Amino acid sequence: MRELLSEPLSPKPGLGEQLLDERKISVFDCYQCRKCSAGCPLTFAMDFYPHEIIRLTALGQEDLVLESNTIWVCASCQTCTTRCPNDIDIAAVMDYLKERAIATHRSIPQKNVATFHQVFLDDVRLSGGRLHEALLLRMYTSRSGGAMAKLVNGTFMGDLKLGFELFRKGRLRLKPPQRVRDIDEFMELFKKAKVWGE
Ligand code: SF4
Ligand code: SF4
Repeated sequence: MRELLSEPLSPKPGLGEQLLDERKISVFDCYQCRKCSAGCPLTFAMDFYPHEIIRLTALGQEDLVLESNTIWVCASCQTCTTRCPNDIDIAAVMDYLKERAIATHRSIPQKNVATFHQVFLDDVRLSGGRLHEALLLRMYTSRSGGAMAKLVNGTFMGDLKLGFELFRKGRLRLKPPQRVRDIDEFMELFKKAKVWGE
């Protein structure tokens, strides 16, 4: 995909302005110093570097950005955000772009990551603001079609053993967690963020 950047791109209004309006993040403040990309641990797996995503977003290049691998490879580790001299929350930009890719029914190159993203949010919502790990595993396995594939390729038993070990060491809770105290405020946050599925 990066070869597309050798062509001149005409700016289109839209994506950058929406981001500013909805999340109060200005990608227009970026002066392309590349500190974000220099610190990102996952650039080896990205089709566009983080500073390129920021630039393309400012130029309103929706198709390139929303169908990129990068937004799904991003692990939200925040390294880029802490390095940016202009205080641009690049990790939050990546999250916003993921949500937009889903909302606009884009083709998603990393389907399992997208499924995990949705399952994680659904789990936190259904479990009253906290993560219920056993539910997460169950939902992810069923929605990703992973159980059948693992039965076929013989890795299912290995996963079961790993799950048991995690449980034995207290790293996997089967019981649902306690809901957060102010559940109404929590649900309001979901609504405000227009999280997928809301
Ligand atoms: S670190 Fe900030 S200013 Fe520098 S390229 Fe990245 S987003 Fe732009
Ligand atoms: S938050 Fe994403 S883009 Fe930023 S450094 Fe981490 S993996 Fe890279």
